[in-house]
Amino acid sequence: MGTSSAHRVLVLGPSGRMGCAVIEAASQHPALRVSAAVDRESAAGVGAPAIGAPEVIVTSDITAGLDHADVYVDFTTPDATEHAARAATVRRRPAVIGTTGLTPQALRAIDDLAKVAPVVVAANFSLGVNLLLGLARTAARVLDGWDAEVAEIHHNRKRDAPSGTALAIARAIAAGRGQDYDAVKRHARDGDVGPRPPGEIGVIALRGGDIIGEHTAYFFGEHERIELSHRATDRAIFARGAVHAAAWVVGKPPGRYDMLAVLGL
Ligand code: NAD
Repeated sequence: MGTSSAHRVLVLGPSGRMGCAVIEAASQHPALRVSAAVDRESAAGVGAPAIGAPEVIVTSDITAGLDHADVYVDFTTPDATEHAARAATVRRRPAVIGTTGLTPQALRAIDDLAKVAPVVVAANFSLGVNLLLGLARTAARVLDGWDAEVAEIHHNRKRDAPSGTALAIARAIAAGRGQDYDAVKRHARDGDVGPRPPGEIGVIALRGGDIIGEHTAYFFGEHERIELSHRATDRAIFARGAVHAAAWVVGKPPGRYDMLAVLGL
């Protein structure tokens, strides 16, 4: 359990799959204490003790929540992330943001916050995926002329596609080859699309069941193939990474940081 000198953490979306996992992970972190939990007004549990942190009453008041926190952790929706970042900018609050499918407005709000406070933003907070990003980049650099594709699978309630992690892997491949990702990406194929252009990076998304997250980077050569895969079997890996980032980010200079910086990779 956290102590009174621990950093106070505001958790957004405590009724969500990730919010719930973050409360559990933060409650077990020795340097953190869950001090507030804020959800959308109509969410289940507003006005009641937070599951996993019964001393905290869930509210829908982001302003008061930020006033009672040293850092906030956000796995919600792009609109909620934008709104929270704007409120946090006024208060210069450090942030850990894991929401994916971010809109240009949300990205701008995060950039504005990062001018006045330290912010960790990652599409995936697991150690394994962050290592995979480096491996994919290296493979892409070495495997000159090979075809690279990325496939991801998630549960049937996921809203955005392709996943933020799949996009991060695809961007790592483009970076390894020195390509501009937006110029070579192919997010869907349908109909007479013609032969695969060299250098293209395809990304496909499968949805079904309760899959937490699976990603594979494929590298296809002549008569051989490499597959780099990561499979998440518990959301706790993301939540543990996010609370590790929350403990790390308090006191850092303003700026935008990724998980590679947090992990010292
Ligand atoms: P979810 O739908 O289970 O939870 C979303 C939560 O956000 C809900 O509790 C909802 O009530 C809350 N919310 C909505 N509007 C809000 C507002 N204005 N203020 C506060 N809370 C609000 O979704 P999830 O599976 O927990 O995923 C959430 C996000 O995190 C998604 O974008 C997902 O892709 C992403 N995610 C990221 C990682 C990572 O490692 N970066 C891992 C898993 C999921």
